Amino acid sequence: MAEHSRSAELFDRAQRVIPGGVNSPVRSFRSVGGHPYFVARGEGASVWDADGNQLLDFVQSYGASLLGHAHPVVVEAVRAAAGRGTTYGAPTEGEVMLAEAICARVEGCEQIRLVSSGTEAAMSAIRVARGYTGRSRIVKFAGCYHGHSDGLLAGGGSGVATLGLPDSAGVPPAAVAETIVVPYNVIPELNEQVACVIVEPVAANMGLIPPVEGFLEGLRQACDASGTLLIFDEVITGFRLGAGGASAWSGVRPDLWCFGKVIGGGLPVGAFGGRRDVLEVLAPEGPVYQAGTLSGNPLATAAGLAVLGAVDAESYTALSDRVASFGAALEKVLNEGLARSGDGHVAFEVRVPVVGPLLGLFFVPEGSGPMRGYDDAVRSATTGLYARFFRAMLDRGVALAPGPYEIAFTSMAHTDGDLERTVDVASQAIFEVVAG
Ligand SMILES: *Cc1c(COP(=O)(O)O)cnc(C)c1O
Repeated sequence: MAEHSRSAELFDRAQRVIPGGVNSPVRSFRSVGGHPYFVARGEGASVWDADGNQLLDFVQSYGASLLGHAHPVVVEAVRAAAGRGTTYGAPTEGEVMLAEAICARVEGCEQIRLVSSGTEAAMSAIRVARGYTGRSRIVKFAGCYHGHSDGLLAGGGSGVATLGLPDSAGVPPAAVAETIVVPYNVIPELNEQVACVIVEPVAANMGLIPPVEGFLEGLRQACDASGTLLIFDEVITGFRLGAGGASAWSGVRPDLWCFGKVIGGGLPVGAFGGRRDVLEVLAPEGPVYQAGTLSGNPLATAAGLAVLGAVDAESYTALSDRVASFGAALEKVLNEGLARSGDGHVAFEVRVPVVGPLLGLFFVPEGSGPMRGYDDAVRSATTGLYARFFRAMLDRGVALAPGPYEIAFTSMAHTDGDLERTVDVASQAIFEVVAG
């Protein structure tokens, strides 16, 4: 059994001075049991915990790390930038270069404003949409996550359309009164009160749920018909799904994009962008206020540029191909494991959806229909099997995300050998899931 005493001790100390011991709730292991491993360092596809255990890492900072940990080009870019000063409160060439890099890769995205997190990106894009249209209502989809700003903390509830039910204590009903939550993969009815529809073009915060045929196209049409802006929240999909993100992947062009995660190269960055005539509403050009002391931070832009410069269309295709075979192999061994176990009556099956390099993992009651929205994801999560699988994998040195609604992130640094070993480990771990 691996040693965990140092992580356990750190978690005890953390709980005294940090609420729940963590700075973001999913890290706490609440939904999988046990205490989190504390990371001492990372390199490539692996992290090493505080007790010196090596873990093959499929968390990769929830997608913020594309090249793998401590990639030399990122480390060098950050080191060089740090030597020139870490923040000035005046514009820098790095910001211009990152904005140019994003606009060059995402067709139709003419301007970008940099912020410091995905939360800020989504919050600000909504404000722009409201300012531009002069309308208040927003439509979001159940199970899609757009950060933790008040107005967007609604809709982890049921898939039935609800109006104004906050998901978190501390969010006043008034803050979400203009937020309409509708089921994913169903085209909502819009009217002239709706400023924008915000969507994860490939849903990746309720496990991985791809858009059904015609969904994104239908949203575009419905938005056009009612003068509503369409916002793609590409904080996960941007520069991960492919060089042009989900709009290139789907052929559907939104009015506004939100980015984060990959574009910061592991430093705190978000961005929102879109058509010039829409973004013109922002101060100092227009009446919509938005700002940030550390926005466009020189270390963050250097890291982001280093990442975007290190990949091309072929890198994404190669990664996607590897993950496609990995996903198929994983699904096969897991379902074989379930079938070979017990008395021959298999109550559950495994689904491993793959979109580009994104990979999800659902344990579902046998004979379940296709995964189309949040209700399906909840049904899978409540089987409780993910938590057991997670622990069995972690005991064997493979770190998946500690929650059933997260997806697995394979970095550019994961080798074929790493993926084969993961399939092998999964074929052993599945027996512990069945044994209970
Ligand atoms: C992670 C995420 C966010 C929030 O980004 P933070 O940097 O955590 O604030 C927003 N939207 C999506 C789709 C995300 O996955």
